[in-house]
Amino acid sequence: MRFLKSAWNWFGDFLHSIRFRITLWFVFILAIVLTIFSGFIYFNQARDLQGDSVGNIQAKFARLLGYFRSAAWQNSSLGLSDVPDNTPPLQQGDMLALVDANGQIIQSWGVTPSSKLVGDLVSAASGQQGLNVYEQTISATDPNGTAASADYLFIVSPVLRGRMPIGALIIGTPTSLTSELQRLRVSLILGSLFMLLIAFTGGLWLADRAMRPVKTIAHAARNISESDLSRRINLRGRDELAELASTFDNMLSRLQIAFDRQRRFVADASHELRTPLTITNLEINQALARDRSSADYQRALQTIHVENERMTRMVNDLMTLARMDSGQAILQFEKMDLSDAALEAVERLTALAEQQQITLETTELPELIVKGDRQYLIQMISNLIENAIKYSGSGQTVRVETGPGPADRRQFALLRITDTGPGIPPEHLPHLFDRFYRVDQARTQEDDPSAPTGSGLGLSIVAWIVEAHGGKIRVESRVNFGTTFEVTLPLALDN
Ligand code: ADP
Repeated sequence: MRFLKSAWNWFGDFLHSIRFRITLWFVFILAIVLTIFSGFIYFNQARDLQGDSVGNIQAKFARLLGYFRSAAWQNSSLGLSDVPDNTPPLQQGDMLALVDANGQIIQSWGVTPSSKLVGDLVSAASGQQGLNVYEQTISATDPNGTAASADYLFIVSPVLRGRMPIGALIIGTPTSLTSELQRLRVSLILGSLFMLLIAFTGGLWLADRAMRPVKTIAHAARNISESDLSRRINLRGRDELAELASTFDNMLSRLQIAFDRQRRFVADASHELRTPLTITNLEINQALARDRSSADYQRALQTIHVENERMTRMVNDLMTLARMDSGQAILQFEKMDLSDAALEAVERLTALAEQQQITLETTELPELIVKGDRQYLIQMISNLIENAIKYSGSGQTVRVETGPGPADRRQFALLRITDTGPGIPPEHLPHLFDRFYRVDQARTQEDDPSAPTGSGLGLSIVAWIVEAHGGKIRVESRVNFGTTFEVTLPLALDN
C-alpha cells in the first residue's frame, strides 16, 4: 500500500515536472512536423501512383482507339463484334468490353465485366464528354472462372462511326493504387508513432540530464541553513544553470556578509553596553556595602550619571542605525542650503567647544543648494564637529568650511571639517566608518577616565547619511597634525 502511495506520488511529481512538460512539448512539435511531412509524402505518392496508373490505361486505350479511327473500320460495315481478337493490347487481368448503344456487351476480351458493372459505367459516362476515368472495386470472374475482388481503373468512351456513336468501349485494368496507398498510410503512421516514442524517451533522457543541475541547486539550497551560510553550490560550467547557480552563490555571499554584520552588531552592542552596566553595578554595590560619606555618594552618583548618559547615547545611536538598516529611516528630501545646516550645527556646538577650550571657527559659507533631509544633514555635520572637538585637546582649533566642489566635481558641494588634534594613525583610517570601531579602544574605555568616551557608532551614522544623499566622505589625517573630514554632496539641479 505504501509502495503504491509513493509510486503514485512519484508519478504525480513526474507529471508536474518541467522535464515532462519539456518532453511533451518536444513530442508535440515533432508530431506536427511528422504529420506535415507524412501528409506531403502521402499526397505526392498518391498523385504519382495515380498518374502512372491512369497513364498506363490511357496508353492502352489510345491503341484501341487507333483501330476504331482507322480507315479500315471507319469505311467498312464491320460491326462491334467484328473487332479482331488480336487488336486489344491486353495484359493479365485487363478487362475490355464493347457495348452497344443499349448497354449490351457485344464483345469482351480478358476478364468479363458483369452486365451490372457495364450498366453502371455506361450510365456514369453518359452525358460526359471525352474520356472518363473511374476507379472502382469490383468482383470479376477471370477467364479461368475464378472470381476475385480487385481494384480496377476504367475508361469509358463512345465508339463512333463517322459522327454517330454506335456503342461504347470500356477498358479496365487492375490497379494496386488503393492497397499501395493503404500500405503507405500504415507505414507512415507506424513509422511516425515509432519516432514519437523514440523522441519521448530520448526527450525525457535529455530533459532529465538538462534538469540535473537544478536538482543539485535545490539539494544544495536545502542544505544551506541560516547558521551555515558559508556553503556554496559551486556549479561549474558556462551555461544558464551555472549562471543561475553563481547568482545564487553571490546572493549567499551577500546574505552571509549581512548576517555576519548583524551578528557582530548584536555582539558588539551587548559588549559595549556591558561596560557601563558593570561600572554602574560596581558603583551601586560599593555605595550600598556600608555607610558612606555624602561626598562618596555624590562621586558614585556622578559616575553612574556619566555611564548612564553614555548608555543613553549608545542606545540612541543603535536605534538610529537599526532604523537605517531596516529602511525605516525615511529621509525627507528638500532643497536646502548646506552652509545653513553647517552654521546651525556650529551654533549648537559652540558652547561645547568653549567648554573644552577649543576654537570653533568657520570660513565664509557660500550658499550651496542641495537636495537633502535637513535634520539628518545637521546630525551628520554635528557628529563630525563633535568628534573634532572631542578628540582634539584644549587649545586646538576646529574649522568648518563649505564651498563648491573641486574643478573636476563642480556639480558637488563640499563640506570640510578640519581639526588640529592628535590625528589618526593611517592603519585605522580604512576602518574608521565601521560600526563600533574606535581608534584606541582600551584607553577610551577603562584605563583613562579623562579620555573622550564614545561608542564607535558616530562615524558609521555619518557614512550612512552621506551615502543616502548620494555623496561621498573621505578622511585625511596626520598624526600630531590633525584630521580633515571631507564630504561631497551633489548640488540640486535648477529644475
Ligand atoms: P565615537 O563615538 O567613538 O566617537 P566615531 O565613529 O564617531 O565613534 O569615531 C570612531 C573613532 O574615530 C573614534 O573612536 C576616534 O578614535 C576616531 N576619530 C573620529 N574623529 C576623530 C578626530 N577628529 N580626530 C581624531 N580621532 C577621531
